[in-house]
Amino acid sequence: MKEILSIRGLSKSYKNIQAIQNLNLNISEGQAYGILGPNGSGKTTTLSIVTGIIRQDEGSFSWFGETPNANQRKSIGSLIETPHFYPYLNLEKNLKIICDIKGISYGDIYRVLETARLEERKKSRFSTLSLGMKQRLGIAAALLGDPRILVLDEPTNGLDPEGIAEVREVVIEQVEKGKTLILASHILSEVEKICTHVAILKKGELLANGPVKELLAEEEIIEISCMNNELLKQKLEASHLVKEVETENGLIVVTLSEKVLPEDINAFAFSNELVIHHMLSRKRSLESQFLELVKEE
Ligand code: ADP
Ligand code: MG
Repeated sequence: MKEILSIRGLSKSYKNIQAIQNLNLNISEGQAYGILGPNGSGKTTTLSIVTGIIRQDEGSFSWFGETPNANQRKSIGSLIETPHFYPYLNLEKNLKIICDIKGISYGDIYRVLETARLEERKKSRFSTLSLGMKQRLGIAAALLGDPRILVLDEPTNGLDPEGIAEVREVVIEQVEKGKTLILASHILSEVEKICTHVAILKKGELLANGPVKELLAEEEIIEISCMNNELLKQKLEASHLVKEVETENGLIVVTLSEKVLPEDINAFAFSNELVIHHMLSRKRSLESQFLELVKEE
């Protein structure tokens, strides 16, 4: 797969605050890459550096395998933090100004307004839009000139559930069209719904990255008890059925290996002459896994 963005050893601090530290990340064509982390973890700083808004202290990055240059800007549409438009001008005029700056023909305005489901509001003043519409206009502006890459920083921040769903729909459509997406978010479920890949940031450091399916895979956890918990625990630990075995309040709590079902554990215990008299499934939510990942280390 073609390399889109490569980040190597990127660091940035604001006075005494280390915003990002030795960040390394590779994003390939067609991926929808989520940058996931709590507030203050360095997401905006990272996106601001790679879109040329601010400069890094250390490290480097390249787009399409080339050192950053003005020509690349046309291939990258971005919306970092809240969009800035002229409140008293209508949407069409606001987008015309951006077209003038970017050297794009006005014809593209109607395409992006339609994509952002705003064509009916083209004559409305920006100030009359709902928050969700403003955000969608920001995405529309980022889509002017049909860039291959879309960089969005928390595009659903502050929106109500309906607004969130509408923005998400617009973004997913772009991913389905084959655009490469880089999306910063502090909301796990948003990344899960939109992204194919995820990098988890905490206090400016990369905790983990990879395919969403692998990183945020749901784990099946069950609690069990039998006549001899200690013996069953030992047997399970020595088997390939479980990823983890712990004792909690007199119960054995196991995280099952992939494709292993609770009935496999039952059969395994029985074949070892241990009869299970308590078994309860406790699926671990993705939310709790993410929180744990961010909490640890
Ligand atoms: P995120 O987007 O994940 O919320 P940011 O990149 O905005 O994180 O911020 C990372 C850290 O850098 C935070 O501690 C934040 O307070 C700090 N920071 C960000 N921008 C500035 C700035 N302009 N001046 C001083 N500190 C900043
Ligand atoms: Mg931010």
